[in-house]
Amino acid sequence: MMHFSKSIAAYEEAKPLMPGGVNSPVRSFPSVDLDPIYMDHGKGSKVYDLDGNEYIDYVLSWGPLILGHADEKVVEAIKETAEKGTSFGAPHVFETKLAEEVIRRVPSIEMIRMVNSGTEATMSAIRLARGYTGRTKILKFEGSYHGSSDSLLIKAGSGVATLGLPDSPGVPEQLAQNTLTVPYNDLASVEAVFKRFGADLACVIVEPVAGNMGVVPPLPGFLEGLRQITKEYGTLLIFDEVMTGFRVDYHCAQGHFGITPDLTTLGKVIGGGLPVGAYGGRREIMEQIAPQGPVYQAGTLSGNPLAMAAGYMTLSQLTPEDYKEFRRKADRLAEGYKAAAQKYSIPLTVNQEGAMMGFFFNEGPVTNYQQAKSCNLSHFRKYFATMIEQGISLPPSQFEGVFLSTRHSDEDIEKTILAAEQAFKTIAEE
Ligand code: PMP
Repeated sequence: MMHFSKSIAAYEEAKPLMPGGVNSPVRSFPSVDLDPIYMDHGKGSKVYDLDGNEYIDYVLSWGPLILGHADEKVVEAIKETAEKGTSFGAPHVFETKLAEEVIRRVPSIEMIRMVNSGTEATMSAIRLARGYTGRTKILKFEGSYHGSSDSLLIKAGSGVATLGLPDSPGVPEQLAQNTLTVPYNDLASVEAVFKRFGADLACVIVEPVAGNMGVVPPLPGFLEGLRQITKEYGTLLIFDEVMTGFRVDYHCAQGHFGITPDLTTLGKVIGGGLPVGAYGGRREIMEQIAPQGPVYQAGTLSGNPLAMAAGYMTLSQLTPEDYKEFRRKADRLAEGYKAAAQKYSIPLTVNQEGAMMGFFFNEGPVTNYQQAKSCNLSHFRKYFATMIEQGISLPPSQFEGVFLSTRHSDEDIEKTILAAEQAFKTIAEE
């Protein structure tokens, strides 16, 4: 049996000091009936908690750590940079280095602006879309999450879905009215919205692979359809690649699917585990941002040298070959899970796209939030607890993706499959 006494004590200490004892809701394990686990350190595919328990980690800081924990070159780059000063509030050559690397790999991005989080990236991209088009309304998809800014907290996924919250109090009704939502993968609903509001729509923002209702890939033709209709109406198409960026493919999801959005938002992987976000796109749109243009956006720590160094060192170590390996390992994990679920007659749907995977306890298919919500949450709780006990760290919610790093070995994958088999057995015996 594992012991968690140090984690429990640390949580008790934090609870009176921070809402829910945490600085981001899902960290408190709100939907799995367990106390959160405090991590102490990580190396490669493994993390170690305060009590010394070891886990194979599929959270990877919710996506950024595509090279695994404490990658030697990333840590070295951070150390070397920090020795020379942590922030200047003046331009730094690392900003240009990371910008060049992103622009080289993502053809739709001709210019880029660095910010400090995915939330800031999407919020700023929306402002830019509104400023550029002179229009007010935006369209997003139910169960998609684009960070916690006001306009985007409407029918959101991720922690909002985990907590089962309706739209958040504190978002003014007048603002919420401008965010239209339709089901993911539903082009007919998109067309209906465009027929009615097309001339007022500044942008459509979409996760090219949805990763915040669990993982839901786009159906064939969905992204193409969005590209076509947005073009027709002069509406900007924003790919929110905060999660998919450099995770689904060497050239991001847009490279993988061959679709060119007008704007792209990034975060997670491009910061290598430090706080980063970015938005970029067509030059004539990006030139509208201050100081070149009138759309204002700024940040004291934007383009911070430590974050730029970590991001650059992360991107520059990734090769196209790595993405083939992710697919091979994800395929094996999917196959192992399916066989184990079948053995114990547990309904399970497996969705995958590159280094992102989603497991749903239902018969499937899962192509939108409605279907994702139909999964058996009690099975999920049991599965999660049994996996933790066997040293497998997973996102503590059915509505989050499972991630792979370059450091996950075949042995890790096989151990995980065996653990899942045990978890399914436990569920079946209930
Ligand atoms: N967009 C997407 C697609 C995301 O997955 C997330 C975070 N999970 C965000 C935006 C917000 O990013 P951050 O948490 O860095 O603000």
